[in-house]
Amino acid sequence: MNNFELVHLLLNSMPINIYWKDIQGKYLGCNLAQANFFGLSSPEDVIGKTDFDLFKNHDRVKEWTKNDQEVIQSSTPLVSEETAIINNQEITGLSCKIPFKDSSDKVIGIIGVTIDITKQKKKEKQLQKEKERAEATLENIIEQLPAHVYWMDTQNRFLGCNALQAQSAGFKSPKEMIGKTNYDMPWSDVADVIVALNNQVMETGKEYVEEQEAELADGKKYTFLSKKAPLLDETGLVNGTVGVSLDITDRKKMEQELLEAKEKAEAANRAKTEFLANMSHDVKSPMSGIVMSSDLMMRDPAWLNVETASQIHGSAEQVLNFFDSCLELSKLEKSELQSEKEAFSLPVLLNEVHALFVPRAYAKKLFFKFDHESDVPALFTGYRGTLYRVILNLIGNAVKFTEEGGVTIRVFISEKTDDTHLTIGIAVSDTGPGIPEDKHQVIFEKLHRLTPSYHGKVEGSGIGLYIVDQYTHHMNGDIKVASEVGKGSTFTLF
Ligand code: ADP
Repeated sequence: MNNFELVHLLLNSMPINIYWKDIQGKYLGCNLAQANFFGLSSPEDVIGKTDFDLFKNHDRVKEWTKNDQEVIQSSTPLVSEETAIINNQEITGLSCKIPFKDSSDKVIGIIGVTIDITKQKKKEKQLQKEKERAEATLENIIEQLPAHVYWMDTQNRFLGCNALQAQSAGFKSPKEMIGKTNYDMPWSDVADVIVALNNQVMETGKEYVEEQEAELADGKKYTFLSKKAPLLDETGLVNGTVGVSLDITDRKKMEQELLEAKEKAEAANRAKTEFLANMSHDVKSPMSGIVMSSDLMMRDPAWLNVETASQIHGSAEQVLNFFDSCLELSKLEKSELQSEKEAFSLPVLLNEVHALFVPRAYAKKLFFKFDHESDVPALFTGYRGTLYRVILNLIGNAVKFTEEGGVTIRVFISEKTDDTHLTIGIAVSDTGPGIPEDKHQVIFEKLHRLTPSYHGKVEGSGIGLYIVDQYTHHMNGDIKVASEVGKGSTFTLF
């Protein structure tokens, strides 16, 4: 086999298309693969013809010949993708065309090599589609997440975010956020803290989880649990930060409410324990007095005197008062309050209550003063029984807690709607120990006492003012306390 035959054999056995054409595009020669491409069985059948003669789809041929002409004109090689349709299938070839020159370096045509890359192209297209689908899925997931997602560059500028994040900043679309910083956002007051954290994430390459408070576009403050991680490029280098923030405002509120409820429950429990301790003191002490005095009376007639009898009476009254309070509390809790209004005389009601405390006030040498403003009418229609219990508790406390001075009861008009409708005010003042300002609210809570009776000499259940408060509201009224430690107290009902 001579050299020519060898080259011929080599060219024809190559699985790539090799061809050479003159300046007019007429084939000067080609290998078997190129002849087969045109449906011909021998390279000789191609010689002298152009692509236009050999291939029906002239649109494609125009593309190939345009490339041929470019190589001829520029006298430089050209690598390009060329396509053809054969049996309704698009095939793609990667063509490398170089100028065909004679011995004097004059371009006399082109020499081309085309490799069929249809399969690779298909694969590439498929991979591209898969990538696009994966990106769309990821985008969709990010959009559906009930969290704020955002990613930033190394200069702390937004590169992108989901719709939730854009909305919370007051933007319609995530695109509007791109290029902006945290200083351009409604939460700019905490931008320094966020930027410092992002920088730390980028420097250390570590993830951080932190609770952050931020004001959003609606002007409200929210609490977020944010996780920040480094944003990596394809080579694994830190290119910025990516953050996910979960709105935990409601959870925080719930936690706070639970804590408050727990504290309230604990306080109520403490009050109950205290109440039981008070009860054993307030019931046991007078009861022991009654048992001891009556025992003495039974053993020795010398004890049968007014003093012992009044001691027994006093102790019995104390026990009765205690049970009265308990009964009233149970009535309150069952909502068995007076529902019918009745006509009554206010001076008579006040005198009745006053009369009950005269002996105790006398024993403690306390004065009692009435200051009944002249324009206050005597007759009223209202919840007489309820008002009676309120005044009883207020005057009872004033006498109970005061050791020196006395008690003043002032009746005045607090509001006059017309000739027949007016609101009266009743103020009960004493010169007792007073109540610290921070306790002015809690004394109205059920079972709340400033000093438990088993600690001191003043008995009580911690129910009285709770009843006063509840009854007052039942009468559509209000109660206020003005008091200073050491200067006495004034409870005003209106
Ligand atoms: P109690 O008198 O049975 O203890 P209250 O509910 O009537 O219960 O009062 C609650 C607490 O408020 C009292 O224990 C006392 O510490 C305080 N308090 C009420 N009235 C007065 C008052 N006039 N002067 C000083 N402290 C008072």
